[in-house]
Amino acid sequence: MSITILPQSHESPTLPGAGMRDQYGRQIRDLRVSLTDRCNLRCVYCMPEEMEFKPRDEILTDDELLLIIRIAAELGVRKIRLTGGEPTVRANIVDLVGRVAQVPAIEDLAMTTNGVRLAELAGPLARHGLRRINVSLDSLNPAKFRAITRWGDLGDVLAGLDAAQAAGLSPIKINAVVVRGFNEDDVVDLARLTLSHDYAVRFIEMMPFGSVAGFQTNAYVPSAETMARIETMLGPLTPLDVTGYDPARTYRLNAAPGTLGFISSVSQPFCAQCGRLRLTAEGRLRLCLLRDDEADLRTPLREGATYEELRERFRAAAYRKPWGHGLARGVIPRRRIMSQIGG
Ligand code: SAM
Repeated sequence: MSITILPQSHESPTLPGAGMRDQYGRQIRDLRVSLTDRCNLRCVYCMPEEMEFKPRDEILTDDELLLIIRIAAELGVRKIRLTGGEPTVRANIVDLVGRVAQVPAIEDLAMTTNGVRLAELAGPLARHGLRRINVSLDSLNPAKFRAITRWGDLGDVLAGLDAAQAAGLSPIKINAVVVRGFNEDDVVDLARLTLSHDYAVRFIEMMPFGSVAGFQTNAYVPSAETMARIETMLGPLTPLDVTGYDPARTYRLNAAPGTLGFISSVSQPFCAQCGRLRLTAEGRLRLCLLRDDEADLRTPLREGATYEELRERFRAAAYRKPWGHGLARGVIPRRRIMSQIGG
């Protein structure tokens, strides 16, 4: 495993532990870091098949990423989630995970992945410090899985889930975006997984982004409909009292080892509890998933800003985090699609 060596001007002072709050008093403890805008799948609701990616020199290097994560940790971030694009297609992903895991004060290191490369990577990632994993899986039907992902092979993801369990990654969460006309009936089979595995299966309402917003709005399925479908087929859902903040409302089917969650960003926004920021692969701090407000960290970083200047830029941007999204008023983020933000 390599050791982080930062330029002299970027030396980190000791951790003040003061925490960081935004202008509304929300504590910022959670940073989602996009490692790349590239992906080995082309989910119909996420990105077009002929996607143009950022030139590689626009993507943050490992050292640049580590520096920003150290700043975030020093300001109070405790949880890092690596995402993309597809995080496992980033070169040196195992080594990079090892380096992030060693950043002082990071208590929780997770990854969101499509699972295609997990059979090979779950063990090494866990050994290098990854704690837990979210696997995106929208259908257990191989033909439908292929139709949704355009390029995917369901068997790869199922093998990846087994490897994640064998590697001790825990909890294992499965995230399914519900898309009308593609998988709204498949939610029942996905929910049934919780009867045999201690997975947390979560159903996510589709959100509208940029050029794909028309499709996403038309194919949106509210959580209430998904819950009703599951209850009709599998019986009542018992609400669980989950400690700690979780964007999912969580339930259990009778005697199930696993849990079911509903992430209803559109029909029941949870902005009041949101303590998240996102770092795009090219170094922009995105203050709200569904708002275009961003702060560029890469330019000052590459122009030689000091560690303190970068930290102040990060802190000031975090403070400006918008209250919440404006979907109910028809305000849709235009500048990026999900894979360019880091979901
Ligand atoms: N490639 C990784 C994966 O598949 O998990 C990480 C990036 S992907 C953009 C993260 C998550 O965002 C996936 O679960 C994906 O299904 C979800 N997603 C993509 N577009 C979305 C949308 N418009 N609304 C809600 N979720 C979306």
